[in-house]
Amino acid sequence: MISEAVVYACTCDLAGKVRGKGFPAADLEKRLKRGIGWAPTNTQITCFDLIADTPFGALGDRVLIPDPGTRVSLRSEEQGIAEDFVLGDILNLDGSPWAMCTRSILKAALERLHRVTGLRLLSAFEHEFQFTSNPTGMGNAYTLQGLSSRRLFAERLIGAMRAVGLAPDTIMKEYAPEQLEVTMDPAEGVTSADHAVILRQLIYSIARACDETVTFTPLRVPGGVGNGVHIHFSLLDESGGPAVFDPNARYRLSEVAGQFIAGILKYLDSVLALTAPSVVSYARLTPHRWSAAFNNLGLQDREAAVRICPVSAMSDIEPARQYNIEFRAGDASASPYLHLAAIVHAGVQGIEEGLAPPEATEEDLALLSSEELAGRGYIRLPTSLPDALARFAENATVHGWFAPEFAELYRKHKEGEMRFLEGMDEDEVHRAYASVY
Ligand code: GLU
Ligand code: MG
Repeated sequence: MISEAVVYACTCDLAGKVRGKGFPAADLEKRLKRGIGWAPTNTQITCFDLIADTPFGALGDRVLIPDPGTRVSLRSEEQGIAEDFVLGDILNLDGSPWAMCTRSILKAALERLHRVTGLRLLSAFEHEFQFTSNPTGMGNAYTLQGLSSRRLFAERLIGAMRAVGLAPDTIMKEYAPEQLEVTMDPAEGVTSADHAVILRQLIYSIARACDETVTFTPLRVPGGVGNGVHIHFSLLDESGGPAVFDPNARYRLSEVAGQFIAGILKYLDSVLALTAPSVVSYARLTPHRWSAAFNNLGLQDREAAVRICPVSAMSDIEPARQYNIEFRAGDASASPYLHLAAIVHAGVQGIEEGLAPPEATEEDLALLSSEELAGRGYIRLPTSLPDALARFAENATVHGWFAPEFAELYRKHKEGEMRFLEGMDEDEVHRAYASVY
């Protein structure tokens, strides 16, 4: 057989889908300059393929320029794995970032963080997903048996991560039926989101090679256990030193980190449409599901939207470098670039506004009345995608973080996604998302 390597140059778009175009690997050098042509209407392709309202129609052109540092080239004939792709930025023809390029949006957010504070972001995405093939049944929460029945997959995945430069951290059988969780080491800036995109593709690819199928859908069945994407983050100063830890401050949280978190909490209801952007995301974001239902900071509380993670006295890592914050109100229907950009912009906004560092809760907020919640400055987060989109639409400060056309196009995109679901009952909606993520 004669065959020649093909590289796919990709974006991870508004739908959280990795889309692109391929070319012979031999042309990579050339393509790093010329890129590949990209139709602006592609930004309105929803997760269900239906194209939402688009102002571009068949007109216009953008260019996707691959970033060679993100190349994934993984081939094993023995394991039946062949993956070759590179991520990139979508630019206007004059070379400026395109308003709808999610990766450029994240870069702009990180630049804002650096401009305002001199700090850089270190972050790590934690992924949960479920196998939809070969069910192993109940009784397997966190079990060795549950992991053992997918050991081949697990070990191939860890090997693949290592081979493409993602440092594996943990892999485990999570609580839900057929659910695994994978974590990796933190990375700086946009690289962390690149790694999240790459990890999802590796998981799909290796599952395929193991004759399995997986879904990252936020909630597979109504009333079930969710698949979250949690983002752990900390801040680094100019010399690379940890900037979140202050041994003398409340919760040992530095002032700048406290303001950053306060910004996230203040703007959370308005950015949720970006971090939890599917219809079923809101069935996951309900109390007592270990996700997030309120705009609170929690001290080691897995129901808080933002959690202060534990610091262990036994670790070989010094406390200041262990100390990190976890954002839990997001899922894999979001592009990692937009997910992280929303957090960073909200955080920097909090710093610019000089917000007071928040109190951390250690209780079940679902037990409080709405008056009690309001009295303490908490709100129940939006309970549906239309609700979340309305909050996003109302918040001019949040719009200001993006190019002028972004908010309107995003709303239209999501309306197109919801139009596809019209007439479906709850089970069908959950099945539709499980089949596309
Ligand atoms: N599965 C939960 C979620 O939907 C998270 C469980 C955990 O704390 O890891 O976010
Ligand atoms: Mg988990």
